Amino acid sequence: MFDNLSTKLDRAFKTLKGQGSITEINVASTVKEIRRALVDADVNYKVAKEVTDKIKDEAMGREVLTAVSPGQLMVKIVYDELTELMGGEKQDIVIKGDPAVVLLSGLQGSGKTTFAGKLASFIKKQNRTVLLVAADVYRPAAIDQLKVLGEQIGVEVYSEVENKNPVQIAQNAIQHAKQNNKKVVIIDTAGRLAVDEEMMREIEQVKRAINPSETLFVVDSMTGQDAVNTAKSFNERINFDGVVLTKLDGDARGGAALSIRAVVEKPIKFISTGEKMEALDLFYPDRMAQRILGMGDVISLVERAQQQFDEEEAKRINQKIRKNQFNFDDFLSQLEQIKKMGNLKDLVGMIPGMGKAMKDVEIDDDAFKPIEAIIRSMTPQERANPDIMNGSRRKRIAAGSGQGIQQVNNLMKQFDEMRKMMRTMNKMSQSKGGMLQMA
Ligand code: GDP
Repeated sequence: MFDNLSTKLDRAFKTLKGQGSITEINVASTVKEIRRALVDADVNYKVAKEVTDKIKDEAMGREVLTAVSPGQLMVKIVYDELTELMGGEKQDIVIKGDPAVVLLSGLQGSGKTTFAGKLASFIKKQNRTVLLVAADVYRPAAIDQLKVLGEQIGVEVYSEVENKNPVQIAQNAIQHAKQNNKKVVIIDTAGRLAVDEEMMREIEQVKRAINPSETLFVVDSMTGQDAVNTAKSFNERINFDGVVLTKLDGDARGGAALSIRAVVEKPIKFISTGEKMEALDLFYPDRMAQRILGMGDVISLVERAQQQFDEEEAKRINQKIRKNQFNFDDFLSQLEQIKKMGNLKDLVGMIPGMGKAMKDVEIDDDAFKPIEAIIRSMTPQERANPDIMNGSRRKRIAAGSGQGIQQVNNLMKQFDEMRKMMRTMNKMSQSKGGMLQMA
């Protein structure tokens, strides 16, 4: 569903690619593109503006770590802000009381009845007894629909075909639940095609009479900005506790998911992604943000780098590179830092696209072991002065590390290449008169 938004955000981040640092100019243009992508995805303009202003402030206040690029840092900032926008923490529905009562509201066609079945099935799986209640007094077909669903999931459905008073039906149903040891009562109320006074009054009355522990508002995410407006109207009248977004499997542009929380200040609690009874998910703002960005893995990677990267050590190594003093001890210390970030296969999997591409490739967790063995077989003098490494020293190191002479020679060659590259980088940065930038 978020394909379009993901692609556009990705394009926005690309404008930072190759940039060494975050500046007012490159952030301004990236943020502008992010805002446009959000508005195109049907996010309320005011919300899009607020969130991108925050992203901008946040980006300007951050130093780019040597371990991540400005583009990656921006992804992390946008991820944090989108998560916050959608409510931050996951919020559970409150099922309390004996019986606990959950009241459902929403327009006709929003997916309310389907959700009633899904929620009943979800609660039943937690080994709680459930009663579904058809309180739609206008559409007999709605009662039948709920009965079919109830049968399918093995949950009793309470209805009174002749009774036209939804308050009475709800109260009788709760009585019925008490007598039949049902712990959770889910009440499906009548919907209309558009918000109307009579429907609102009716739900208000039902809510007041039965005092549910949770009132949910069900809304079709495909309706875009209308979804947000409808949510506002319902909330003003019945002050619901949470939102259920349905039809997220369709090609909705996703704006509802992003703006509803900010506009109505009520959390999204469930998302529905299909007509099948299993297609129900709890709503996790962080996971949704990851999905929107299409690159959730990088987030963990940046977080790990932030947690593990020793800034002091990075500075020390940077100094040594600048003075052409990078030696085997430094090399070993760098390997240690990389290893601290986690197992190699996991790390590779966190790079977008790489996980998929590399899924059949064996990445040995012990890939660094031979290199470490060779370096550890060197004398402290050899580690600190790589230039003294002659043929007899190499032979001794090979024997001591249990590696072949070929492996030792390979490592020396790679190390020489690395130092050559560092020297070239140094010369380049000196000729530009600048400091060596590792970002
Ligand atoms: P109600 O009038 O609010 O009770 O809505 P229904 O539960 O009858 O749903 C209206 C239509 O949307 C039905 O055809 C459902 O099968 C369909 N529907 C409900 N939820 C979803 C969903 O998450 N994804 C898709 N694709 N269809 C859904």
